[in-house]
Amino acid sequence: MSDNCLHIVPLHKEDYPNAELKAKEILEWFQKKGIVEKELSACILSKDKKGYRFKPNITSIFNEGELWAYRDKYCIYGLELVFEKRTVFHPQEGAYLVIDCPNCNKTIDEQLGYEWISDWYENKGKDYQNCPICKEKRHLTEYHIEPTWAFSNIGISLWNTHWDLKSDFLNEMKQLFGTEIIIVPVRI
Ligand SMILES: [Zn+2]
Repeated sequence: MSDNCLHIVPLHKEDYPNAELKAKEILEWFQKKGIVEKELSACILSKDKKGYRFKPNITSIFNEGELWAYRDKYCIYGLELVFEKRTVFHPQEGAYLVIDCPNCNKTIDEQLGYEWISDWYENKGKDYQNCPICKEKRHLTEYHIEPTWAFSNIGISLWNTHWDLKSDFLNEMKQLFGTEIIIVPVRI
C-alpha cells in the first residue's frame, strides 16, 4: 500500500518565531478536539520520529468526513509536528519543479531553482534571489512553484487521511499560525 500525506505550512519570510511553542499549541488544539491521542506513538512514516495517532474524530475536519471510514487498521495514521529546523515540504521525491518569477512571469531554469532551495535550506543568508531574467529580487516563497512546495521551520503533516479539508479547519489553522497557509499534498 502506498502512503500519502498532507503538509500544512505557514507562509512567511523570516524564520517562524518560537516554532516549538507554536507546534505545542497546535497539538493542544488537535487534542482538545479529540482528533489525536495524548501520547506519541509510531504512527507516521519515519524511522526515528513519532507522531500522534488519529482518533475517530479525525473525520470531522474533512468535507463529508462522516462518509469516510475511520482508518483504524492503518499503521501509519497520525499527526506529525515539524519544528526542529528549516524544512522543504515537497510534493514527492523526485518531483518536477516549475518555478516562475512573480515579477516577469518567466520560468527560471530548474537547476537554478533547486540551487535556490538548497541555499534557503542551508540558511546561507540567500533567502532572497534575483530573477536572472528581469533581475528583480524576491524571497524564495514569492516565486510561483508548480506543483506546490512550501518552505518553513514549522509545519504539520497529516498521514493517510482524506484530502478534502473543510474551510473551517483551514481557517482555524490560519488563525493558529497567524499567517496564510500552504497545503502540500504528497503521494509516496
Ligand atoms: Zn523575473
